[in-house]
Amino acid sequence: MPELPVVTRIALENNDPARLRPDMAAPPDPAPGVRLRLSELAPGTVQSEIRAMSTECERMGGINLAQGVCDTPVPPVVEEEAIAAIKAGHNIYTRLDGIGRLRNAIVQKQRRDYGLTYDPEAEVLVASGATAGLHAACMALLNPGDEVLVFEPFYGYHTATLKSLRIKPVLVPLAEPDWALDADALRAAVTPKTRAIILNTPANPSGKVFTREETESVAELCREHDLFLFTDEIYEYFVYDGQRHISPATLEGMRERTIIISGFSKTFSITGWRLGYVTADARWMGAMSYFHDLTYVCAPSPLQHGAAAGLEHLPPAFYAQIAADHQSKRERLVAALRDAGMEPSVPVGAYYILARVDRLPGETAALKARNLLAATGVAAVAGSAFFRPGRGENLLRFCFAKKNADLDEACARLRRL
Ligand code: PLP
Repeated sequence: MPELPVVTRIALENNDPARLRPDMAAPPDPAPGVRLRLSELAPGTVQSEIRAMSTECERMGGINLAQGVCDTPVPPVVEEEAIAAIKAGHNIYTRLDGIGRLRNAIVQKQRRDYGLTYDPEAEVLVASGATAGLHAACMALLNPGDEVLVFEPFYGYHTATLKSLRIKPVLVPLAEPDWALDADALRAAVTPKTRAIILNTPANPSGKVFTREETESVAELCREHDLFLFTDEIYEYFVYDGQRHISPATLEGMRERTIIISGFSKTFSITGWRLGYVTADARWMGAMSYFHDLTYVCAPSPLQHGAAAGLEHLPPAFYAQIAADHQSKRERLVAALRDAGMEPSVPVGAYYILARVDRLPGETAALKARNLLAATGVAAVAGSAFFRPGRGENLLRFCFAKKNADLDEACARLRRL
């Protein structure tokens, strides 16, 4: 392998562990009596490693496989309806839980896909992204000091959202190479303070799709200990190799305690529109909608019409095509990573690949990511961003939800490494 260029000054600064790992950053000691200071939480918050890599990639004019931005085309019906809605004057606040048309379309979708029944008047919240949906759900249902079980590798926004509300994420490791669930380890992590489990399936960053048996064991624990289950199903249509997404609320006794969180960012390639939703039992929905209202007032009004049109008009073939297209992109990136000597863990769902990068120079995954960017112009994210401190240092995460030309160019560059 040719010697890699030196990493940049910004890159090195970004690799200060205290900047990369919020949990390792010690809050500064304010002088006694000083009131003009940051909150207790603020010193521990840093720009996510995903955003840091995207910024660095943009600065270098590289190909960004770091962020799951999903820059594939927006379905025309979605785009056109949103534009038409702006022109038709749908530009003011909507009802706090979203426009009736979209709530109805979400209800139809949950029935069509999973046989789940929800009341559009009381059991659906159109949120400003799945991210806002999770935040509102945590505000409404959890208290500071509560514990929530989160599978590791985790999606950073899940743990960061919990921490921002002073709720403790308790990490339950999944076992490599296929990220299998150890039901005993999950059970052992439950304490009297445990209130909920977050289940992200298909998962970011591992690409794991929880099997029926694994989902059953999560559900069993929720029933046994009377826990909420927050599901993040945003990649529900990104499932490969003929596998199917199982919505955990469909399991026995789970509808009443499952808070389904999903959205349109990935399915319709509209990450910047900030549109997602929550469906849950009416008992929980009022408080969730209230907290969402408090922060966002409502999801973007005309864009809700675009998403509704997508749900109403796009045929099943559209969703099948998403899976087929991304499976093909997965194959291409898997092959390129193998050729480059970075052994990938082949994902069954979502659109990320965790690959072993022992061969890259750099003591930490963050340094390896920057060295890879400097050498190839391809940005990936340090695996350490998805694990507790000390883990994930030999992994990088690559996103394959890219335009074909960009993905192919990235693959060619990786092969030249
Ligand atoms: N949940 C997961 C697991 C994700 O990977 C992402 C984006 O990368 C999101 C949620 C963000 O969803 P939204 O854009 O709807 O807030």
